[in-house]
Amino acid sequence: MNRPDGRQPDQLRDISFIPNVAAHATGSVLVSFGNTRVICAATVEEDVPRWMRVQRVDGGWLTAEYAMLPYSTLDRKARDISKGKLDGRSSEIQRLIGRALRSVVDLKKIGQRTVWVDCDVLQADGGTRTASITGGCVAVAIAFNRLFAQGKIKDFPLKKLVAAVSAGVYQETPLLDLNYEEDRDAAVDFNVVMTESGEFVEIQGSGEEAVFSSAEMTSMLDLSKQGIERIVTLQREAILAADRASTTDLASLAAAFGR
Ligand code: UDP
Repeated sequence: MNRPDGRQPDQLRDISFIPNVAAHATGSVLVSFGNTRVICAATVEEDVPRWMRVQRVDGGWLTAEYAMLPYSTLDRKARDISKGKLDGRSSEIQRLIGRALRSVVDLKKIGQRTVWVDCDVLQADGGTRTASITGGCVAVAIAFNRLFAQGKIKDFPLKKLVAAVSAGVYQETPLLDLNYEEDRDAAVDFNVVMTESGEFVEIQGSGEEAVFSSAEMTSMLDLSKQGIERIVTLQREAILAADRASTTDLASLAAAFGR
């Protein structure tokens, strides 16, 4: 079985993180998984949702929003606002991103604040939700580093890193990190969210019009676990790099896109 882009079954696409792409966000990163590119930005608001105030819940909240930019897809995708309703798929994905990130954040340690994690897909080529979780975690870590440096928080709220990747069964072979072409033709599609310690946070798996065996599921989960271990190393490097440079210069953006 040959993958459309020539990768090995357990090979990730080229993954890169360009931190600090949006100066007004508290933390931001442009994450690429091959041709999938997502801008992830964490903005900290000095307020909590009304239900938290009413119920006198301690600490803060973290929530996420996800959208595909109109030109991120092969055919232009109209903005939700012009259709007058939130796309069901976007709504499902943003809830997944929020749950994934809250699983590694100690909300008590962020104080009476709300962290908004905005994930906007610049270019879609499969795996936009997993790229959003992976980049969202980097943006949140950068944001918390900033709050910490400003003395606004005393304990670091991020307990560990979380990352996500897709896996699937394509032409009867379990594969890691599907691109659009593979995702479209795959019989089975998994999205795996895992912490840096190898604990599962969430698994979305379905045999779209097919079925799958436990052996195939085990292979997909093993592939994902190995992939996430590699992704976490890259996340850590990106968080450190963000600390060194306060804003990304145009030359490094151009270099990343020129790959
Ligand atoms: N896609 C698209 N338009 C849409 C939804 C999806 O072009 O409205 C493409 C896009 O490349 C996306 C892929 O289909 O990455 C797979 O979509 P899916 O819903 O499985 O989510 P993802 O894999 O991006 O998390």
